Amino acid sequence: MTSGRLVLLLLLLLPSAASPVVADDVSWVWPLDPRPAVVRAYEEPAGPYAAGHRGLDVAGSAGAPVRAVDDGVVAFAGRVAGVEVVSVDHGGVRSTYQPVGALVRSGDAVRRGAILGRLLLAGSHCHPRACLHLGRRHGTAYADPLALLDRAAAVRLVTPYGPPPVPPPDPAPVLGGPGSLAPPVDGPVSSPFGMRVHPVTGQLGLHDGTDFAVPCGTPVRSAADGRVVGVDYDPVYGNRVVVDHGGGLTTRYNHLTRADVATGDRVGVGDVVGAVGSTGLSTGCHLHFMVLDGDRPVDPMGLL
Ligand SMILES: [Zn+2]
Ligand SMILES: [Zn+2]
Repeated sequence: MTSGRLVLLLLLLLPSAASPVVADDVSWVWPLDPRPAVVRAYEEPAGPYAAGHRGLDVAGSAGAPVRAVDDGVVAFAGRVAGVEVVSVDHGGVRSTYQPVGALVRSGDAVRRGAILGRLLLAGSHCHPRACLHLGRRHGTAYADPLALLDRAAAVRLVTPYGPPPVPPPDPAPVLGGPGSLAPPVDGPVSSPFGMRVHPVTGQLGLHDGTDFAVPCGTPVRSAADGRVVGVDYDPVYGNRVVVDHGGGLTTRYNHLTRADVATGDRVGVGDVVGAVGSTGLSTGCHLHFMVLDGDRPVDPMGLL
């Protein structure tokens, strides 16, 4: 049994999540020719802020033509945080292709199977090899592209977290009030916490932190005493540092050029944990500062 068949079988065996919102006659054609091998499957995120793999990676060679999976209109074609991306709207369902050097422009109508661009190596999820990351979105919910590519009798639509999140109310009193955290950088707020239309995807969603506009390289300081519990790289948040302050309160410092601490380090308020950068899904140097109450993001400005 091939791994592709195995994945399909597993999908068919899993219980259906929510009711399908795509018509039974909707299917996608493979974006690469001949039908590519799946290198990495879709991994359902546990929540809107959790890790996961919000798409399907399929093997390809650099320069290969990348084709539209269905009729649609190009919603975006361009560079996002250094990676070339094409996104096509199919009327409620959106397909996203990266890294792809676009041969189409935003607003172009495309037919199923039409060439959108050419597969690139830079930005590959399979570095140092080339592969295409294909994403599928229904509104703000990600779903498994494979279910539409390998459309069989049974259809499973993954709706990992349902309707768009509503911004949480003010932080719980246990977190303290204004002034209980120190500002991690000294700079103006360029994008506040709350619901916004994503600058790249055009989807309404929760901006789960506060953006501070400060130059790359600016020292980033811990907002309170605590212990470093995470130093990692995330495709969206880039290089990030997570500090646990006890009582369920953690802070996260995202898009860093580099981290200056290691997991397990103790930090005091004002200690440097890293330097401002533009790594991950970012369009310029800034700090995306997050405060979490348990695993729930809260508005940092209520605590600064
Ligand atoms: Zn991927
Ligand atoms: Zn942000």
